[in-house]
Amino acid sequence: MRRCCDSRGALGEGVLTAPAGERSAPAAQRIGFSRTREGLLCDAVPIERIAKECGTPVYIYSASAIREQYSALEAALGSLNHRLHYSVKANSNLAILKLLKGLGAGVDIVSGGELFRALLAGFTGDDIVFSGVGKTEREMEEALRADVLLFNVESEQELHVLAEVATRLKRRARVALRVNPEVLVDTPHPYTRTGGKGMKFGIAFDEALAVATVAMDLPGIHLVGLDMHVGSQISQLAPYEAGLNRLLHLRTEIEHSAKIKLGYLDMGGGLAVSYESNDAIDISAFGGAVNEMLGSVGMRILLEPGRFLVGNAGALVTRVLYRKRSGGKNFIITDAGMNDLLRPSHYHAYHRIEAVSHVGLGTIADVVGPVCESGDFFAVDRQVDDVVRGDLLAVHSAGAYGFVMASNYNSRPRPCEVLVDGSSFSVVTRREDYNDLVRAERGAS
Ligand SMILES: *Cc1c(COP(=O)(O)O)cnc(C)c1O
Repeated sequence: MRRCCDSRGALGEGVLTAPAGERSAPAAQRIGFSRTREGLLCDAVPIERIAKECGTPVYIYSASAIREQYSALEAALGSLNHRLHYSVKANSNLAILKLLKGLGAGVDIVSGGELFRALLAGFTGDDIVFSGVGKTEREMEEALRADVLLFNVESEQELHVLAEVATRLKRRARVALRVNPEVLVDTPHPYTRTGGKGMKFGIAFDEALAVATVAMDLPGIHLVGLDMHVGSQISQLAPYEAGLNRLLHLRTEIEHSAKIKLGYLDMGGGLAVSYESNDAIDISAFGGAVNEMLGSVGMRILLEPGRFLVGNAGALVTRVLYRKRSGGKNFIITDAGMNDLLRPSHYHAYHRIEAVSHVGLGTIADVVGPVCESGDFFAVDRQVDDVVRGDLLAVHSAGAYGFVMASNYNSRPRPCEVLVDGSSFSVVTRREDYNDLVRAERGAS
């Protein structure tokens, strides 16, 4: 696993450039995408055709890739008493939610807006766990009315507020305590670590027993489980094993001192996918380890994968607007920018980039967007296809934390989203137009 992606490093310092072995990256990285004489395909549809019909920039997702990842994880978990609760924030498009619902997934939500989406997509309360460090009373009310399976509660104060809201509504909230297992997590970027000591997430480990005791006595609260989420893009088993060990230990303590049974253990998400050559989690080893640790604990195990299910199933396709040289550097200027895909700029994330049609020659260049920020880049000093104005580029592994983080910065309408399934595709989000930009503003006609 590469461990160079440290935000404290200088801009683009090795981070966004091509890692060794990039050219021979494994097929997993291109899941759902393949190359033939017609150029790059998503499932069986030429990307060129989608770009022609839908314009650019466009997010393109492969339904088969999502199904494949879902079944791979299901297969790895085997007979464990479990359910996958897809983390909606990774990609909250209704079509993708419906696709995952069809596969049997539940969802993990972090806001009232995501609850709204989940219900629209056809999920019911039983399918939904509600996570998040800052739930508002309104969001709690909405989730109580939807009768969600679990509230993952992150502080003692939140617990008291939830008790009040539930009592007011004459309901009882099923609660899992999100505990910070305070494990060392090594993710490619500090912003995606959540389970270390002193982070804003979860209840401090040494306070969890006391909070459980409080929960026992609160009206409107039914304590049924424990929860953790240690971070995102985790490629090692150790953080999961360490975290689960601590949670199981805590469970014994709580059950013993409070004389209750905790039926749910939510182990969060974070499973890494490969953006480069070798940093994906070994999913069958993961399944084996989880089965070994949890196979006989007699709890229902919930997982909240987001990125793992959709990350590599999507690409952002963009057209080259200009080429230029400046200060001894080559620039490829695309019609997609950081407002469309924020990850390179925000996390210094690496995304593989390739020309949609065969180009042959390579060059070293920065791939940058049109936004008026120096941080608007997709690649820095990278060996890339030597594209010219008008060519299409695919920015891979953009299925998770791509469109959902898109904004209208620079008053740029957000791109459209296309879901490909086999040989057909549909526009699942239309491209925004200029009216969309001002729709919520007073003074818009
Ligand atoms: C973001 C998040 C997830 C999903 O993380 P991935 O890295 O996309 O798997 C799961 N659970 C919680 C609580 C989260 O905040």
